[in-house]
Amino acid sequence: MTGAAPRALRVPYVIAHADEGAPQRLRFARRPFGGLRLAYDNPRRSDLVRGVLRARVLNNRQGAPQWRKLNTLRQWRCMERNLCQVCGLDATDPITGRIPWITTATAFRAIPDVSNSGYTSAPATCLACIPESLGMCPQLHVSSAVYTVARSEPAAVLADMFSPGPGGRAVHTGEHNVLVGLNEPALLRSALATQLIVRIEDMRPLKVT
Ligand SMILES: [Zn+2]
Repeated sequence: MTGAAPRALRVPYVIAHADEGAPQRLRFARRPFGGLRLAYDNPRRSDLVRGVLRARVLNNRQGAPQWRKLNTLRQWRCMERNLCQVCGLDATDPITGRIPWITTATAFRAIPDVSNSGYTSAPATCLACIPESLGMCPQLHVSSAVYTVARSEPAAVLADMFSPGPGGRAVHTGEHNVLVGLNEPALLRSALATQLIVRIEDMRPLKVT
């Protein structure tokens, strides 16, 4: 090897890998209580999570990392259990009981009229991984801020949207990353969720030394 070797970057836990794709054959099926709903051709009980059809992916971390894409299963697990997006371990600070959270302009939206709270699609980051994670931000061309939060609560999903075509075929509307609230069942019937959004509350700036 010639020249300076690049500093090896650990591939964060949430990042998708090239060989984790799964076939996505979708259709609209009639539900027992009426109405059409997006479903897989060969539905499994595990497809529906929180009333949402979740995109199927593998969870093997095989193949080249796809730095701009998150693995749906691991992102979801991080959000539901407050796991660190870099190392995959519990992100909660055992001393304070608070959860460290890096927010970026692209993945965070403040809630109007509710101070110190917001919606985010990026999972927490444990204290030990924060320096490494902040080091990645310039490479990903995102600006960031660091907080601790008191709690997080699943609130919405980012989804690809579909409409029924001939014979119940699912036709992609062309809409990606549409924010659909978990309290919007009518919209969720046409949504394939790729990421879970949580509401984070009682955000306090964290000084990173
Ligand atoms: Zn970590």
